[in-house]
Amino acid sequence: MYQLNQKLQGIQPYTPVTESYRIRLDANESFIPLPEGVILGAQQALSETAFNRYPDPMAAELCQAFASHYGVPAGQVVAGNGSDELITVLFSGFLEKGDAFATIEPDFSMYAFNGLLQEARHVPIQKRPGFRLDVDAVVETCQRENVKLLIFSNPCNPTSLVCPREEVRRLIQNVDALVVLDEAYMDFSDQSLLAEADAFDNLVILRTCSKAFGMAALRLGFAVARPQLAGVLRAAKSPYNVNALSQKIGALALGQELALETALQDILASRWDLASGLEKLAALYPGRFTLLPGETNFCALQMPDGPALLDFLAQRGIAIRYTGGLVRVTCGKYGENQAFLQEMGAFLSQTDIPITL
Ligand SMILES: *Cc1c(COP(=O)(O)O)cnc(C)c1O
Repeated sequence: MYQLNQKLQGIQPYTPVTESYRIRLDANESFIPLPEGVILGAQQALSETAFNRYPDPMAAELCQAFASHYGVPAGQVVAGNGSDELITVLFSGFLEKGDAFATIEPDFSMYAFNGLLQEARHVPIQKRPGFRLDVDAVVETCQRENVKLLIFSNPCNPTSLVCPREEVRRLIQNVDALVVLDEAYMDFSDQSLLAEADAFDNLVILRTCSKAFGMAALRLGFAVARPQLAGVLRAAKSPYNVNALSQKIGALALGQELALETALQDILASRWDLASGLEKLAALYPGRFTLLPGETNFCALQMPDGPALLDFLAQRGIAIRYTGGLVRVTCGKYGENQAFLQEMGAFLSQTDIPITL
């Protein structure tokens, strides 16, 4: 008789929104479609691809396009089937059963999930009140707990806050762990360490095409590290991890500098819209919620009755997320943001008992 092992017995699937909503502000995707030129190129690629052949295992053209876009050497770049896959490769490759890995909570839930599958020991470190990262506390805990891998997102999902790069440098220099710096949202901020990946022997930076670049469906993520570490990652991943069409379309899209920049500016304008609408509501309903000063494509709110807001909006066809104790609202199209703000205003005015933060 077959029995599931212990680690899989209690496992819960990731629960994204699957119901149909008229407005989706829950998954931090881009609201902007790919440029026409890329769509045409994708159609061309569809007719030219040899579907009977395996794709390029090193995704050379794609890595080169990424490298050119960010001005890093292609030898430092490894492509993944979304950065999610690279997180899995890092956990399975760099941790042995029982090894300690640390996260800085609240943070992206996939880190703990991968640690569980790897049978690694999770050391959750709390952020300071106000959700700032405390470098000294993180260093101290990592050293005390003999942490082998430290992973965190900067800017952080779900807090939306960015940690200044001097602080991140100090952290990397002072721990004896592999530091996985997940810069999924760094296109919306300016504290990247990409240009310095080569300067550290214990740093892997992750980037994704799912957020600023509007290619979540293609599953494209990248790891950037000094060539020796990048080589280890290339050897540890599964050989044909990025499919031929994603490689082709990704390379095309990453070469469209003007379109990428325009899309980024449109998303930043949407964030400004959403944040200023939220600030107005915060002023109208003092004490009900606080907007964190974020640098991402979503707004994060501290709001005690956040779960009730989520339900209220769901009944009105609007999906947002409540995670890590925060309400998280993705920047959408202008009309989507306005619809969300209007319904949030309705929620705040109908629940008349103010809750103090
Ligand atoms: C969305 C997200 C990812 C996942 O990106 P994919 O490339 O789509 O797998 C990774 N890290 C963080 C913090 C994210 O929010």
